[in-house]
Amino acid sequence: MKCAFCGDQVVYVRQYDKTALCIKHFNEQMVKRTQRTITKHKMLKRDDRVAVGVSGGKDSIALLNILTKIESEFPESEIVAITIDEGIEGYREEGMLYAKKNIQKLNIEHHIYSFKSDFGYDLDEIISKLGERGKSREFGACSYCGILRRKILNQAAQDVGADILLTGHNLEDEAETVLLNIIRGDIQRLSRLDPKPRKIHTSLVPRAKPFRNSPQAEIVMYCYLNDLEYQEIQCPYAVEAYRGDVREFIFKTQEKQPMLSFNILRGHEKLLKMMQTVPPKKELRECNNCGEATTSDFCRGCWLKNQLDS
Ligand code: SF4
Ligand code: ZN
Repeated sequence: MKCAFCGDQVVYVRQYDKTALCIKHFNEQMVKRTQRTITKHKMLKRDDRVAVGVSGGKDSIALLNILTKIESEFPESEIVAITIDEGIEGYREEGMLYAKKNIQKLNIEHHIYSFKSDFGYDLDEIISKLGERGKSREFGACSYCGILRRKILNQAAQDVGADILLTGHNLEDEAETVLLNIIRGDIQRLSRLDPKPRKIHTSLVPRAKPFRNSPQAEIVMYCYLNDLEYQEIQCPYAVEAYRGDVREFIFKTQEKQPMLSFNILRGHEKLLKMMQTVPPKKELRECNNCGEATTSDFCRGCWLKNQLDS
């Protein structure tokens, strides 16, 4: 089998359209698709200071690598990397090492924040503290982790003066989030899941996901072909995640229907146009404690802090 572009030796056959690619054209296609996604959804401006959330996993490491290639054509823009240490013993340390190693190689400004220093408790402490109270936790560990990571990433992006915050969520991650919100009937969240970054409140840095059209298998292959080292072991709390069932459904169905995740996202984009004509049920206001945007008296991070401190 020959590369569809140049006839060289094939290293990868794209699952969804069976295009055979050599290493040069595989890499080129990965960069081009990221560029097209950024352009289509107007994710970046030429002179943006771009913050990238880098965990040390495959998605964020590959995204940072590809963004530096794209950014080299825009001398007025800048990239800074942000890593959040959630404080998960036996897991997070390795991810931090891979994040630091890759960021140093690319010579990018790196800012590290942690749950412990920015929130007062690390994730392990939060989980054991909530368990100590003799009542079962209201949510899974990933919910608490998600609330705080989102909050601290936003604060970090503001601290470093970023115009936009990019994260490495890939095609299947996005399809999974769309399906989860449909399953939960959470139309508000479904309508906020806009691929185009929007400044919805002064306290929130706009966010975007340039890998939303990049399949996970191709990101893994990109890391492998470009010798990018990343953390492969799974977080010990991942088994608690309800997302796991939806994820399994996506990957299983995708074996027979390779366009599944693309179709879910295209369907959601069409729905979005209709949903955005409906005004939100609750207006955003400022958290009484930290000033971050929320629909209640307190943001979810401050609500959690209050629970832990009391
Ligand atoms: Fe946090 Fe859950 Fe991810 Fe672990 S799997 S890092 S707890 S969101
Ligand atoms: Zn708050």
